[in-house]
Amino acid sequence: MADDRSTAALQRRSLDAVWHPCTQMARAERVPPLPIARGDGPWLFDFDGHRYFDANSSWWVNLFGHADIGINAAIKKQLDTLPHVMLAGCTHEPAIRLAERLSARTGGALGHVFFGSDGASAVEIALKQSFHSWRNLGQSEKREFVCLRNGYHGETIGALAVTDVAIFRDAYDPLLMRAHIVDSPDSRLGNEAAALTALRTLLAERHAHIAAVILEPLVQGAAGMVMHSPDYLRQVRAMTREFGVHLIADEIAVGCGRTGQFFAWQHTQPASADQWPDFILLSKGITAGTLPLSLVLTTDAVYRAFWSEDVTRGFLHSHSYTGNALACAAANAVLDRFDAGQLQHNAEQASQLAEAFAPLAKHARVAHLRQQGMILAFDVEAAPAGFAEAFHLAARRHELLIRPIGRTVYLMPPYLIDAHVARWLAEAVRRTLADLFPESDVA
Ligand SMILES: *Cc1c(COP(=O)(O)O)cnc(C)c1O
Repeated sequence: MADDRSTAALQRRSLDAVWHPCTQMARAERVPPLPIARGDGPWLFDFDGHRYFDANSSWWVNLFGHADIGINAAIKKQLDTLPHVMLAGCTHEPAIRLAERLSARTGGALGHVFFGSDGASAVEIALKQSFHSWRNLGQSEKREFVCLRNGYHGETIGALAVTDVAIFRDAYDPLLMRAHIVDSPDSRLGNEAAALTALRTLLAERHAHIAAVILEPLVQGAAGMVMHSPDYLRQVRAMTREFGVHLIADEIAVGCGRTGQFFAWQHTQPASADQWPDFILLSKGITAGTLPLSLVLTTDAVYRAFWSEDVTRGFLHSHSYTGNALACAAANAVLDRFDAGQLQHNAEQASQLAEAFAPLAKHARVAHLRQQGMILAFDVEAAPAGFAEAFHLAARRHELLIRPIGRTVYLMPPYLIDAHVARWLAEAVRRTLADLFPESDVA
């Protein structure tokens, strides 16, 4: 029994022993998790010989497919050399190279790299560094943070305080520090000017108390792939400079080529160091879905605020696996791909997706078909209660693993699209919609 690997037995054992993330376990009894036996490229295989296209890249982490030979080889090589050593008092080449290469990708504007373990820890690090740097500069009253409506920055207590997604936040609200939440820009609403005005009003009034603004550049992921323009970001940068407030660009989801540039921020075409944010956060894709790692890139100005003979003015923050060498080796292998022209491939793949999904815009239930690089999303009109789960389950029957956010269906696939795959994906989505809404089919 203990080693029964049939689907039903694995589901039972998982429900008994594994407390699944982001899951009401009572519901999981009715919709048990899908046991996955192995992954190969964009495909996941279950124990009954079925395959599923991983359209959400396993929570947005997987860039080049599962069990990628090159990434795996880099990890295996590192495994035989030095799997891990602590990064306080010691250092190692994979971490040094990774920090140098990421810093070079900002043109040196963010030349100091702090290592964390996952996305939420990167957010915690940036919030602490922002507050502490102001404090070290004698401005300890700057200890408030500003985040955007519906923004998502992770689920530890500090990260949740700057997250505005009710379903994750409400139960813990009494525990959270208070943050300012300002309206977010949303291409569907055409409200960028109003969102900028709201931010300006807040900064004008509270800037002496505000340490930083945190946002997800170009695409608010967990909000349901809500998009805005690079111009909004340029204006926020100018405004935060004007009022002496840090800007934290959370690129945990949108970094690593997802939007068409390596950093989403590059869409703003920063012409000088002061047009970059004060912090950029990376995680998720940086190891291509192999190992947990996050990075906080920051400026000379922030770094120098901690520089002192006084230990307590230093940034005394660490995680046991800070700068893990295996994860750094994976990340360096990811950067090798970008050095070898990955962004050109992504541009082609993004246009293949656009072309294949264009006909879906005519579907009576489909609204706001939108795309930013390798993120494609649409909203479903008049979606019934339970739509996300129903769509997820129906899609599995068409070999598609996809998890809508509310009534927003999105694809954030591994960078393994070609014209044929793009058409296959669009057809699988159309068939799934046809299963749920037979009267509106556009075949
Ligand atoms: C996923 C995500 C996080 C949190 O990362 P974890 O690794 O899940 O802690 C933070 N910010 C954004 C924008 C994310 O998408």
